[in-house]
Amino acid sequence: MRNDPSGRRSTFPHMSGLETCPSCDSPLVQPLSSSRRKAGEVNLKLRCPECEARISIVATEAQVAAYEDVLDDGRDGVKRAYDRCVAESMEALADCFGRALTLDLVGADDFAAGRLRSPVVRRLR
Ligand SMILES: [Zn+2]
Repeated sequence: MRNDPSGRRSTFPHMSGLETCPSCDSPLVQPLSSSRRKAGEVNLKLRCPECEARISIVATEAQVAAYEDVLDDGRDGVKRAYDRCVAESMEALADCFGRALTLDLVGADDFAAGRLRSPVVRRLR
């Protein structure tokens, strides 16, 4: 917890945003918990995943709104990366399957009911 000389809790005026770690400048600070105080203030507990700093702060609604925008942008970026990864993986699987079909390594018999009941397939279910 940071305190200014008057003894009041700081609102982190030196930080560029709540997402920035005051210890190591990482832009990946994550929220742990929050609670509303009187109008216009929010108690936040934050964590830096890079240096493990724990931060307790009283933030303004504007700081929290800006932080939420950054978190939303980050979440969107992770989702886009995940979607891209899944699409690339599916393309690779389709390519392998296409090659296997071309080389006649896979046929209709591979999908016959008896094969799908094999112990190996049952274990995968
Ligand atoms: Zn840090």
